[in-house]
Amino acid sequence: MAGPVRIPPAEALQRSYLTVRDPRMQRVLRVQAALGMTIREYLNGHGFVELLPPIIGPVADPGLRGAKQATINFYGREYKVMSSAILYKQMMAASLGKIYFFSPNVRLEPLETATTGRHLAEFVQVDIEEAGATYEDAMARAEDLVRTVIAHARGALGDDLVAFARRLNGGSRPFRRLLYSEAVGLLKEHGREVPYGVEIPWEHEEFLSTLFEEPFFIHDYPRGSRGFYDREDPAKPGILRDFDLLYPEGYGEAISGAEREHEYAKVIARLRETGENPSKYGWYIDMLREGIPPSSGFGIGIERLTRYVCGLRSIWEARPYPKVPGVFSP
Ligand code: AMP
Ligand code: MG
Repeated sequence: MAGPVRIPPAEALQRSYLTVRDPRMQRVLRVQAALGMTIREYLNGHGFVELLPPIIGPVADPGLRGAKQATINFYGREYKVMSSAILYKQMMAASLGKIYFFSPNVRLEPLETATTGRHLAEFVQVDIEEAGATYEDAMARAEDLVRTVIAHARGALGDDLVAFARRLNGGSRPFRRLLYSEAVGLLKEHGREVPYGVEIPWEHEEFLSTLFEEPFFIHDYPRGSRGFYDREDPAKPGILRDFDLLYPEGYGEAISGAEREHEYAKVIARLRETGENPSKYGWYIDMLREGIPPSSGFGIGIERLTRYVCGLRSIWEARPYPKVPGVFSP
């Protein structure tokens, strides 16, 4: 990947209205539209129903690695701007089985993420959920989807890849699968200590990603490192049935996914364990108490996918009117 210069030029951001007319940016945006279309075709062709995403709600996903949620005043009550629609995905998988949203998310990411090249405060993820699916099913689905998108990019978008001087790997072999414990071990071999039980910090994750030429999975994270809704494996206490897919070449995390903790008592215990007050989760807790089917799913960020496909240095190059943490722009 080209050099480490990822500081967003304030000028380019301030003048988004000119940046979006730049021929290179126009090409990125056309590629992004084509990737979105491929994802929709894939999911529709496999029986998923696209639903309108929630934008605000009394609760949203709190499992946000240091990011803050934005709130609005909803007629005298505090509502969250959607940081992730995961709770609503469970609601809708209980109704229609196989569902997805193109979900706009707002996360007030910490200031230091402005230069990671992969964090925006406003982004879109395709959020997918399937009732009755295991996390192995979700991993297979994620792999199939990413392979399909890469094959499409290599084929129909071949001229664009040439224009970006981009050689895109990933598609010939099955994606590698590393246990979390193996990933932490690999980092240790390279002198990077990650205490067992914490989520792999983004700089280590990025380093790990430089060691591979094709997308790869990390799975079975330990309890405590992820959101309360990632299901603990009944056969392996302390281990979650969840995964990330990482892009290679230093591009880092592409996808997070999991089987859901959906049983009322377990969710209450996990919420308490992470310092959350279950009573804040109103409708979600009511829904679980009354019962929902098990489900699994994942989310794939569109701007990160575009960055990877086009080989862009920074994620803000894959977003019209990008909101880089702490940088004021249109
Ligand atoms: P998460 O639930 O935090 O794992 O987010 C799901 C997916 O959304 C990630 O795998 C990324 O592809 C994408 N994503 C998460 N946070 C950001 C961000 N701050 N900027 C851009 N994309 C993001
Ligand atoms: Mg994640």
